[in-house]
Amino acid sequence: MQLTDKRNTWQMCISSSEWGLKQVYIMSKEKILIIEDEEDIQELLAYNLKKDGYDQLKITGSGEAGIEAVKRFMPDIVLLDLMLPGIDGLTVCRTLKSNVDTAAIPIIMLTAKGEETDIIVGLEMGADDYVVKPFSNKVLIARIKSVLRRAKNMQNEADNEVLKRGPLLINRTKREAMLNGTPFTLTYSEFEILFLLAKRAGWVFSRNQIVNQVKGDDYPVTERSIDVQIVGLRKKLGSAGDAIETVRGVGYRFKENFSDADLKSQSSKAATKFNH
Ligand code: CA
Repeated sequence: MQLTDKRNTWQMCISSSEWGLKQVYIMSKEKILIIEDEEDIQELLAYNLKKDGYDQLKITGSGEAGIEAVKRFMPDIVLLDLMLPGIDGLTVCRTLKSNVDTAAIPIIMLTAKGEETDIIVGLEMGADDYVVKPFSNKVLIARIKSVLRRAKNMQNEADNEVLKRGPLLINRTKREAMLNGTPFTLTYSEFEILFLLAKRAGWVFSRNQIVNQVKGDDYPVTERSIDVQIVGLRKKLGSAGDAIETVRGVGYRFKENFSDADLKSQSSKAATKFNH
């Protein structure tokens, strides 16, 4: 009986010309799993996410329950507190990212101030982003959307060796980098760093992650040398140098949605040159 009622309601919505109403019923937003032990934060998250249309939510209060819930619920994204009773958040992250069935599910870590080390470890384990508590709802929603979008783009670009990022064109097969159509020369390591960061634009990479993924032939790659190479890379990128952003205490990232509008004029570039 209830089912029939529901179907009638559904059909009414479909047949109504209220497009907005139709959307509410037809467009279902991504499933979100929250792993967070503090009840007030659970409630706040649930309230704000629902307000933004994310009504497929599951909330668990421990790492064990979280891992279990991932398998049953198969969320599109996980919001993961790091300080949990029992299995901690980093262990949950490692468990999910090392399992083929769950590795592709994006994770946003919810961290406290002063947990930079944990943030770095989490990113190295494959977490996709983090927000520091207390965070604003706007920031969190923006991060969720951005991480979901990036996850989709990643799939599309998985085998693509040519990246276009605003005025930058990076062709890994030809080992060619161009800015506004003009090729410029990079060392092997600089090229690999640029490709790594640009491929996952918006993603933060720790120095250690960069070291591990960039095996330099021309340069001994250490965490310290990454800083030196980033300086060199920014210099060679010239007006596009600001595309590579420093994330204080964590590492580097290629600016998300980098476009021609982000190009700095040479004069203002000089002012920010040493701001790394
Ligand atoms: Ca906690």
